[in-house]
Amino acid sequence: MEKIYLDYAATTPVRPEVIKAMEPYWSEIFGNPSEPHGWGQQARVAIEESRNKIADFLGAKTQEIIFTSCATESINLAHKGLVEAVGNRSSVAGKPHVITSEIEHKAVLETCRHLEKSGMAEVTYLPVDKYGLVKVKDLEKAIKSNTVLVSVMYVNNEVGTIEPIAEIGQMIKVKSQKYGRKIYFHTDATQGIQYLDCHVDKLGVDLLSFTGHKFYAPKGVGVLYVRDGVPLIRQQDGGGQERDLRSGTENTPYIVGLGRAVELVGGEGKLRAIELTKLRDKLIKEILKRIPDSILTGSPDRRAPHIASFCFKGAEGEAILLRLDAEGIAASSGSACTSGSLRPSHVLLAMGIPPEVAHGSIRFSLGRKTTEEEIDYVLKVLPGVIDGIRKMAPKL
Ligand code: PLP
Repeated sequence: MEKIYLDYAATTPVRPEVIKAMEPYWSEIFGNPSEPHGWGQQARVAIEESRNKIADFLGAKTQEIIFTSCATESINLAHKGLVEAVGNRSSVAGKPHVITSEIEHKAVLETCRHLEKSGMAEVTYLPVDKYGLVKVKDLEKAIKSNTVLVSVMYVNNEVGTIEPIAEIGQMIKVKSQKYGRKIYFHTDATQGIQYLDCHVDKLGVDLLSFTGHKFYAPKGVGVLYVRDGVPLIRQQDGGGQERDLRSGTENTPYIVGLGRAVELVGGEGKLRAIELTKLRDKLIKEILKRIPDSILTGSPDRRAPHIASFCFKGAEGEAILLRLDAEGIAASSGSACTSGSLRPSHVLLAMGIPPEVAHGSIRFSLGRKTTEEEIDYVLKVLPGVIDGIRKMAPKL
């Protein structure tokens, strides 16, 4: 058996079709897209074609698509740019208020912490239920007269829970009308872009972020969708590229690759989602059956097709990962090794999972090349891995 990669939520390989689309833009069509000469204008055309593809995919207008270097940058621009833009408006009573959830990716959480620390905004971190779901009613109650931005992720990257984005979007619209001023809504769609409907009007979002490398485009290119009329102050000063929201010479090959990858998602996303859901469900059902004291983390039904996540009581996540790696299987753990101490994932803790259980977390994330044979191999190997670790663990 070849090595088995089940960490597609961390990153994906670049598809051959994407590499092919990018090829001419390294040394043939290499001009600076801001230059008026032929070389530059050929690159400009390619960038605008890619922008069109992404706008089509999101149901957005072309000028609403801003290219960045990654989701993290898009998220920073969305949050800081918006808070800065609305901060001085007299229509906002007091310091701008931002609402987000406790289970966001660090890109959102750390940006919000920065806004708090710098005194630019006050932030509410909403708790979630045991499945990692944000309750729309809780969110509604948290909205205040100075709330300017709500930011909730589409799909949680650790447990795969799909948040009720369209429902939140609708509620925010009603609240905005009631207050007679706009409350802006951002979603981090990084883990949703491949398999879920990302039509911005259906979701009711004003800002949406994602990154290329989660769906077979290269690392180092991302998108921020900015609905027309959303006030945003650039966070990078310079030559005024990307409607003066993101200065810096555009990365033509990567932008072209991103456009091609989005096109390919549009063509096969739904079909692949159905296939992956079957494989994911087999993995979940069999792991829970074959391994005692195993817990599915995240929602049993509102779950992205590519993510299956578990906690194994009495077995430590990092140890499981290393043993799996030795068996040729790449997965991921929610725990992050910080300053030498293993801290359980903030997502699992927010879902009410006790720290000692959260230490045993593992995420398998499936992708284009995942086969039933691979899933069967994991099911064959994993029970022995967990059992072996449990036997070696010191008894408390
Ligand atoms: N948001 C989510 C949900 C993610 O899964 C990730 C990547 O792991 C990011 C944001 C950040 O993506 P990038 O590192 O490409 O900026």
